[in-house]
Amino acid sequence: MTPTSQPSPDTVARSQLAGQPLLRVIYSAAAIQKRVSELGREIAAAYPPEADVLVLALMKGSFIFVADLVRKIPRPIQFDFIAAGSYGDQRSSSGEVKLLYMPEKSLAGRSVVLVEDIVDSGLTIERLTPLLRARGPARLDICALLHKRRPGLAEEPRWVGFDAPDEYLVGYGLDYAEEFRHLSCIGSI
Ligand code: 5GP
Repeated sequence: MTPTSQPSPDTVARSQLAGQPLLRVIYSAAAIQKRVSELGREIAAAYPPEADVLVLALMKGSFIFVADLVRKIPRPIQFDFIAAGSYGDQRSSSGEVKLLYMPEKSLAGRSVVLVEDIVDSGLTIERLTPLLRARGPARLDICALLHKRRPGLAEEPRWVGFDAPDEYLVGYGLDYAEEFRHLSCIGSI
């Protein structure tokens, strides 16, 4: 049998983009995979072996990032998700954060890693972290794939994948009106 060669992540990303109005690829699929592997190792190294680590993914935007990230964390963890929304089909924030789903599992005494796709105004994490802290975790750390680095944020992520430009980004879980989430790369529209 002859071995079949797999297409590279960037080849897949290009085919996913066919005919779609993406202006510019900002983070290639390969660059994202490399950074996600680094983040996974850093997260694993940050907690003592006895820590009860719960990775909590903020839906929907983090779904692809967190699926890749948890597979790169070389230590025991548990997983759940939380759903909140501040954006409708518009490109600007409504300023309101709606909590749509909270896990039933106890957070008490656990090391919780909240995984977010992108920090923009910081309002989402500012609203969510008190709700999570009220459940008594031993620690609450935030891992964001992208950070737009606006000044004056009340809450900063412990881990950031990339400092993002001040543009509207899509792909790798991020949408515009529910489109583009499936792209393996991240681009600007
Ligand atoms: P924040 O509350 O920090 O202003 O915004 C966080 C949420 O806004 C993110 O979880 C994401 O859903 C959305 N968001 C912020 N900037 C962008 C962007 O450039 N692209 C997309 N697709 N969503 C964004």
